[in-house]
Amino acid sequence: MKYPAIRNYIGGAFAAADLPGLDVFDPSAGVVISRVPMSGVRELDAAVAVAKRAFPAWSGLPIKERVQVFFRYRALLERHIDELAALVTEENGKIDSEARAEVLKAIELCEFACSLPQIATGEVLEVSRGVECRVERYPVGIVAGITPFNFPSMVPHWSIPNAIALGNCFILKPSEMVPLSAGRIAELLAEAGLPAGVFQVVHGGREIVETICDHPEIRAVSFVGSTKTAKVVYRRATNNLKRCLALGGAKNHLIVMPDADKELAATNIIASMSGCAGQRCMAASVMVAVSATDHVIARMVEIAKAMVPGKDIGPVISAEAKARISGYIAEAEAQGAKVLVDGRNVKVAGRENGYFLGPTIIDHVKPEMKIAQEEVFGPVLVIVRAPDVDAALEVENASPFGNAASVYTESGGVARKVMERASAGMVGVNVGVPVPREPFSFGGWNESRFGVGDITGRGSIEFWTQSKKMTTKWNREAGTNWMS
Ligand code: NAD
Repeated sequence: MKYPAIRNYIGGAFAAADLPGLDVFDPSAGVVISRVPMSGVRELDAAVAVAKRAFPAWSGLPIKERVQVFFRYRALLERHIDELAALVTEENGKIDSEARAEVLKAIELCEFACSLPQIATGEVLEVSRGVECRVERYPVGIVAGITPFNFPSMVPHWSIPNAIALGNCFILKPSEMVPLSAGRIAELLAEAGLPAGVFQVVHGGREIVETICDHPEIRAVSFVGSTKTAKVVYRRATNNLKRCLALGGAKNHLIVMPDADKELAATNIIASMSGCAGQRCMAASVMVAVSATDHVIARMVEIAKAMVPGKDIGPVISAEAKARISGYIAEAEAQGAKVLVDGRNVKVAGRENGYFLGPTIIDHVKPEMKIAQEEVFGPVLVIVRAPDVDAALEVENASPFGNAASVYTESGGVARKVMERASAGMVGVNVGVPVPREPFSFGGWNESRFGVGDITGRGSIEFWTQSKKMTTKWNREAGTNWMS
């Protein structure tokens, strides 16, 4: 194995590797590179006990002192970007530019955390003569984050910097398919001066997730993953009276109008559907082609056909994922859809066992087909035809998901209509991946997010803190009224 067996990170040190585990694969070579331990109650109890000891001192520091760790950590991420991006490539398969972009995004998330003292201030008002009300924010306590395979570095950083800077002790449960980055994150946070027990990593699968949801001393859980698991985690955590914010899967619709800028739309849409091999919750999944848009589609086909698997597009995460995605394509074809670009059966020289698929474009898909309704999570774009923008919006609105939607048009009126009527939490105009960047918050609607609020930016401050409302009177002349 290229890497030694992965270990939990508890109390500022890597724990003994004495647990049963699962193989970890390099998706571009299809070979085993490490083993990930499957933790249970004992490991989580150990992490919680250490977090409990660390919490009073960490939460007692002023926020301006806490964020100093993230100034230093941000510099370390920058210094180690080559190594961190290489780890992401190794465990997830992303091409180098995508892996670097992921670490750069982690850096941006740290920058937001560094700004928290400026924006997470309390409030104070003299509510009647001599009587002041003030609101102060307090951390929630011991909290946990459960993350998916598609962003081994960025998605953990959606929660880690804000939760910790706001005074919580954080336990990360990374995806068992991509467990390498987490250990390095732990080491760099320690090097940046984070006290032992404030950030810990407990690896595993379903059992440890359920244990986190059940643990009486974990007060809040952020989850990112598929809708199926998001529902399980949200129900279980809230049933145990915890705060939970659970982000689920997606089926993002891009509406293309006949007046769209051909080159801009075609390049953006292919980049959106094929970036990270289509394994992004913000990826273009359904193009709703309104009226005369064949010229845009023809250009998209040219761009997709010119892409080189292994160079411009990495593998999908596993052999099972490749088989599942290929199955969706075959079923749509059998139902009469037209495969314009077929990414099945691609071969990458020297990496014949990697899980590669090329970009795939399927036209004349009916909205009721499975491939138009379910999340495929691969480099596959389906095209549904619509006569006008209202019909296009009907297709978008019918999806149970609601992460992102976009429109390509030169008309401000049409753009505004889509911005208002799309049933999605993040909407783009002439933008293929409408991710709101800091300080704006990330979060979808409908079955793409369960819980209140967003996971990043200002929205996350509410989730990772609880407010205390205080009323004070020091001025005896204030007299007596109904508040006395
Ligand atoms: P997943 O739901 O299979 O796994 C996510 C996490 O849940 C992992 O840590 C995994 O160990 C755990 N898990 C899996 N099955 C479980 C079960 N039955 N019980 C308890 N825990 C379980 O998701 P994935 O395949 O790793 O990631 C891809 C999915 O994540 C896609 O659906 C994608 O859209 C979604 N995603 C969403 C966002 C968003 O912002 N909405 C962002 C990234 C990824």
